[in-house]
Amino acid sequence: METILPPPEPVLVPVVESAALFPVRRVYCVGRNYADHAREMGHDPNREPPFFFGKPGDAIVPGGGDIPYPPATSELHHEVELVVALSRGGRDIPVAAALDCVFGYAVGLDLTRRDLQARAKEKGQPWDMAKGFDHSGPVSPLVPAARIGHPRAGGIWLRVNGEVRQRGDLAQMTWSVAEILAHLSGYVALAPGDLVFTGTPAGVGPLAKGDRVRCGIDGLGELEIALV
Ligand code: MN
Repeated sequence: METILPPPEPVLVPVVESAALFPVRRVYCVGRNYADHAREMGHDPNREPPFFFGKPGDAIVPGGGDIPYPPATSELHHEVELVVALSRGGRDIPVAAALDCVFGYAVGLDLTRRDLQARAKEKGQPWDMAKGFDHSGPVSPLVPAARIGHPRAGGIWLRVNGEVRQRGDLAQMTWSVAEILAHLSGYVALAPGDLVFTGTPAGVGPLAKGDRVRCGIDGLGELEIALV
């Protein structure tokens, strides 16, 4: 059957030490998953259920590199995050079975137009234009869980022009990867190709055109972008 337009090409994320590529379907993100970041955003950190927002699949920028400073903002913020890539899905996945859905992990940046997000929060409006804009999700190549297992601890950090801005540990996550996938699959059917950004530690802050951002997760990998 012929389509009236060429179907969109999926974004393909490289897999480390392999010629394989991971095709991206949906991108989900968890809000406030580190207590110290919840506090810096003016919230009381507690274990209220995780909440989710999304980015379009084609907002993902595999491997980072040059990222255009986005329009309609004067406050672009960095958020370094552990990203989970799924090779299996389902609905109502039990916590004990959730990690079986994970193909691997990457370092990602949840780039955020903080001024638009603040305005949206104030007016009770959606976050889409604050979070889901073009090029808003650079990710490093994926590392298969078959190679490194499922990281539960390890430094997560971000430097801007060489200066440390974010530093935390995966062990500080309020909700674990398995718990996040279990909760999320209660709202939507997860599927192979989905990526899940798991939240950021404290230290988020603004970026300017010309900044070089380097971030990483110890034992997993690094990601670098330049704002152009
Ligand atoms: Mn985030």
